[in-house]
Amino acid sequence: MRTVRTVAELRATLAPERAAGRSVGLVPTMGFFHEGHLSLMRAARGENDVVVVSLFVNPTQFGPGEDLDAYPRDEQRDAALAEAEGVDLLFAPAPEEVYPDGFATQVAVTGLTDVLDGDPARRGASHFNGVTTVVCKLLNMVAPDAAYFGQKDAQQALVVTRMARDLDFPARIEVRPTVREPDGLAMSSRNAYLDAGERERAVALSRALTAADSVVSAGERGGDAVLAAARAELVAAGIEPEYLELRSATDLSPVERVNGTTLLAVAAHVGRARLIDNIVLGGTRT
Ligand code: AMP
Repeated sequence: MRTVRTVAELRATLAPERAAGRSVGLVPTMGFFHEGHLSLMRAARGENDVVVVSLFVNPTQFGPGEDLDAYPRDEQRDAALAEAEGVDLLFAPAPEEVYPDGFATQVAVTGLTDVLDGDPARRGASHFNGVTTVVCKLLNMVAPDAAYFGQKDAQQALVVTRMARDLDFPARIEVRPTVREPDGLAMSSRNAYLDAGERERAVALSRALTAADSVVSAGERGGDAVLAAARAELVAAGIEPEYLELRSATDLSPVERVNGTTLLAVAAHVGRARLIDNIVLGGTRT
């Protein structure tokens, strides 16, 4: 595996591959790899001739007061894990390479970014503008045949899919299931912030989703009852969610009654970690 830090090196490395007709898969990440990241690398490895992983803690998707400086980083460990997955190229640019002096462009998806993590009363759409701008740039830099994202960040996956469609990116946007710890906690680089007690409480997020799934499987369709089942698990762990909402899994419109494509999404602070998780109710558990 090679590590490159500039767009020029990245393009020079990929040009002969593309000229030889080889397909390229991209896995965009902010590093500090866990099984969720590795599962995306495996998916990319299985479907492409060349696998590129980007490692970039993107400053523009962090709000003021968020954890940009504290975000866990370990490039050496990440490089070893990526190499073990058969990744060909690690693209790890410095912030100045991605955002040179005078950078003035934003890519914004409207509508989908106004709710949940983009609610103006919470983080606002600027988080997603940071995401779509950097993903747009990465798609232009790498020009992959496919790019791989996790359902863990369900809203991000929808926003990126919409952006790629609206802006006619030729890349397929592939969304893969959430990878969980054995007790159900969704894997996240931010789980590194949790101390032992917080780690125990954090599992309440996935328990809440499972509880909702159980009442739906038992026939309940009323949104209030489904949310109450989920909320009870959070309350039992002393967790007040930032949001706990039922939304259409395809366009994030509000949902009163559960049907096959209903997303239950949760965000909560546990200690200093802001954790998110979700489940598609009535569908496949991911
Ligand atoms: P991040 O480094 O947190 O920005 O995540 C990079 C990619 O990995 C994103 O597409 C995430 O949705 C995905 N990802 C993060 N956690 C998980 C997980 N537990 N399971 C599957 N994918 C994940």
